[in-house]
Amino acid sequence: MPIRLLPEDVASRIAAGEVVERPASVVKELLENSLDAGATRVEIETRDGGAKLVRVRDNGTGIASDDVALAFRRHATSKLETSADLEHIGTLGFRGEALSSIAAVSRLTCITRQRDEPIGTQIRLEGGEIVAERPTGRPPGTEIVVEDLFYNVPARRKFLRTERTERRHIDSFATRYAIAYPNTAFSLVHDGREALTTPGTGDAKEVLISVYGLDLGSSLLEIPPSLTEGHTIRVSGFVGPTTVHRANRGYITLFVNGRWIEDIRLSYAIIQAYHTLLPVKRYPVAFVMVEMPPEDVDVNVHPTKAEVRFRDGDAAFRAVQRAVRATVISKAPASAEWSSDARAADQLTDAQLDQRRRLAQLTPAQQQRINLSALTPARSDTSPTRIGTDSETISNGPASQGPAGPTRGGDDATGLPPLRIVGQLATMFIITEGPDGLYLVDQHAAHERVLYEELVADKVQGQIPRQPLLEPVSVSLPLDEADSLEEVLPTLQALGLEVDPFGPGTFLVRAVPAPLQTQSPEDLLADIASAAAGVGASSEQPFDVETSGASSPILAELEEMVIRHICKRAAVKAGQVLSHEEMARLVKDLEQTRNPRTCPHGRPTVVKISTEELARHFGRGGSL
Ligand code: ADP
Ligand code: MG
Repeated sequence: MPIRLLPEDVASRIAAGEVVERPASVVKELLENSLDAGATRVEIETRDGGAKLVRVRDNGTGIASDDVALAFRRHATSKLETSADLEHIGTLGFRGEALSSIAAVSRLTCITRQRDEPIGTQIRLEGGEIVAERPTGRPPGTEIVVEDLFYNVPARRKFLRTERTERRHIDSFATRYAIAYPNTAFSLVHDGREALTTPGTGDAKEVLISVYGLDLGSSLLEIPPSLTEGHTIRVSGFVGPTTVHRANRGYITLFVNGRWIEDIRLSYAIIQAYHTLLPVKRYPVAFVMVEMPPEDVDVNVHPTKAEVRFRDGDAAFRAVQRAVRATVISKAPASAEWSSDARAADQLTDAQLDQRRRLAQLTPAQQQRINLSALTPARSDTSPTRIGTDSETISNGPASQGPAGPTRGGDDATGLPPLRIVGQLATMFIITEGPDGLYLVDQHAAHERVLYEELVADKVQGQIPRQPLLEPVSVSLPLDEADSLEEVLPTLQALGLEVDPFGPGTFLVRAVPAPLQTQSPEDLLADIASAAAGVGASSEQPFDVETSGASSPILAELEEMVIRHICKRAAVKAGQVLSHEEMARLVKDLEQTRNPRTCPHGRPTVVKISTEELARHFGRGGSL
């Protein structure tokens, strides 16, 4: 179809809004155009996170020389003619706004040649004005170079985040399209460094592996297309087995009719499909593509087309939920295990296997002791009086802040009295006796609290004990998460986690915080990366919080997050049998903490039942 200006009535029905927010929006729009042009090869290049330069080169249809200037006019498109066409959009673009919007805020060069034309065209625009146009030679296809984005809109330029953040947005977009379009060969280069290449052979699994890394990529299960063959709504893609899960929803990707969208309900359909198969608060990894007749989905609801509206949302929900569930169930191991250690042995690296073998030679009690002893160096020199202790109540509420006096010796609101160990209950609680009643200690929560305070103390002194790995373990992460992680490597170093970048999306873990030596480095890194991405996201708002010795509030937040994570992973679990000595040690350590009554996540560590209350239960009416 030739390019033409949309009639006023059509243009006015188009969801309006800003399409160029940041370099990643430029990449998105140009990439969509290349795919709409049927390209089988798309090369993306950026400099300075795309602020200096974004180049997208394709081997698609090209633009006819007579149409090139027109393509840069607002509402000029070859993809739509009448307003009826808006009801069934089969292309990624349709508004004819992207090229004009991008050209308006940059210096843009477009070199293009249509296949059946003998010669191509080069056009140059600055701030939206054409400054040069001439015939030129080039192979069929289109190359668009966007330089100095927002050079003429300083206010907008100021809002650009760090290069790394911008790159992360570009990565997350490009990698998803690379997976969804396995027949197209993609390459992505940042500042001369190759970040992604896909072969374009149509093998989606191969692309998944190059994006997610070998471990994660090859573990994903394909949704059999046969499940929904012949249905109005077809579902395809890849989902993680039940042994693979993440701390947030960031690993759930949805495509509808070839377009990456955000849709809370469909994401929920995927999460639902894993109901009872994953541990609580853990989310699946899923890349789900839905195809349906274009008239059943309205893509003209959101300025950047990131959201869509379904004619029958329930049907879409059911189709996705069923297809994903059927895939996961049919491939689930006989007993779905939740622990991170449940990964099939053939997915582990040699170094991990070694480590696992060494650990396997220890009895569970020995392993436990390693955990406990590594974490609880005797601290008999702890001063009995602490200043500025947070006061806490024994109730479930989060700690209330306030000054408090000495914390040992009596059952004031903050400290714990000396407790005598009675025994263990349900391999979860330690039963203890205090001066005035029964104290039940949650062994996991208590250990978390002990670890937390020790690690914070170690951190303040500048050294969390680290455990070098015998052999470095290589871990691959999706590019966008890898970027977040790279940003926080120096912080991790101080926390005992020694990680070096090792090629695009890959890291070498050389040492882990000693308390975490029995954990899988992959899971640890994946969790930290996704949390770091979250921490980075909150940095979008300017923030002025006092810093805790970290060089910035963001790092402080991250440190805190990593430390809590370490505590959670390393603390003794419910279900672990503890010896009398271990219980005594743990309770004693808990008594010594500043805030013995809650775990670092705010849950209570101790529940007290007074002797009076017990007496009442036995009908002694308060008289002992
Ligand atoms: P839209 O994609 O909504 O039509 P754009 O402003 O992105 O609007 O592009 C305007 C037109 O320019 C497109 O309709 C298409 O005809 C042409 N065009 C843009 N990029 C390319 C490309 N890479 N290859 C071929 N044609 C292109
Ligand atoms: Mg477009």
